[in-house]
Amino acid sequence: MKTGIIGLGAMGFPIALNLYKAGHLAYAWNRTRATTEALAGRCHNLAIASSPAALAARCELILISVSADADVRQVIDALLPAVTPGTLIVDTSTISAVTARDMAQRVAAHGAQFLDAPVSGGVEGAKNATLAMMVGGDVDALEKAQPVLRTIAQHIIHMGPSGSGQATKAVNQIMAAGINQAVTEALGFAQAMQLPLDKVIEVVGSGAAGNWFLNHRGSTMAQGSYAPGFKVALHHKDLAICKHMADEADIPLPITEMTLMHYKNLIETGYGAEDISALFRLKKPCRD
Ligand code: NAP
Repeated sequence: MKTGIIGLGAMGFPIALNLYKAGHLAYAWNRTRATTEALAGRCHNLAIASSPAALAARCELILISVSADADVRQVIDALLPAVTPGTLIVDTSTISAVTARDMAQRVAAHGAQFLDAPVSGGVEGAKNATLAMMVGGDVDALEKAQPVLRTIAQHIIHMGPSGSGQATKAVNQIMAAGINQAVTEALGFAQAMQLPLDKVIEVVGSGAAGNWFLNHRGSTMAQGSYAPGFKVALHHKDLAICKHMADEADIPLPITEMTLMHYKNLIETGYGAEDISALFRLKKPCRD
């Protein structure tokens, strides 16, 4: 399927490279053109689209990876006038289920299809094509997209109608907040006990408390390095969505609420563009 990608950030860029390597990627567009040019420099014959509409007019499958709800809305607004019936739009951004359902309806009104297909697995998963993808929308549309999506994701699960992919991603983000809190708090404690952090990470990471976040971010955070990865501001955006959904369902989310406060603190002190492991900044022994 002739495929185009819109959004070449920390996730979109490596996803685009994998689509290209698999022979699917024909067009790319990024708001900041220099990034599209950098991608084209690595992908012989890749065409740089002049706009989302120009890309939409030429592609059968359009993959989107942008930041937040308002950005997905902007991109869809820009491409819809040019979309041809039968086109499939797969949005891998993390946004609210409400926006995903709204986008699916608007796209359907143009005779095209929209899947909400957020991903998990971090930039490592995007680079290694091992992402987990949770999909909401028409199952036949997913079947059509599978040959392309299999080149960027290892686990692709259809969750139900439009919005179900994003609702599942909200579950993932609530869990990720708890894991971040547990790992950074435990490593802060280890530091207060004057234990060698590298050895703590090695031994704890290979036991029952081991997890992806500790194994992939433990050693960098122990060195005080918080390069993204996954930006604090983006996880804050996701948790605000989770909190809103939980309020509507009357479900308490105490860890999510605490994490929202901690991330707000980090954003206000200038750390919003750092990796979420920067939460460790708030977990150092108080007497430091
Ligand atoms: P990022 O590095 O900040 O990149 C954001 C991308 O969106 C950039 O290409 C940016 O273009 C583009 N963009 C933002 N607003 C736009 C707009 N209004 N119109 C057009 N393009 C716009 O973010 P990321 O880490 O790649 O994350 C992308 C999405 O995946 C987010 O929804 C995030 O929550 C989700 N996600 C991230 C991770 C992760 O580990 N990073 C993992 C899973 C899911 P410019 O280059 O012009 O700024």
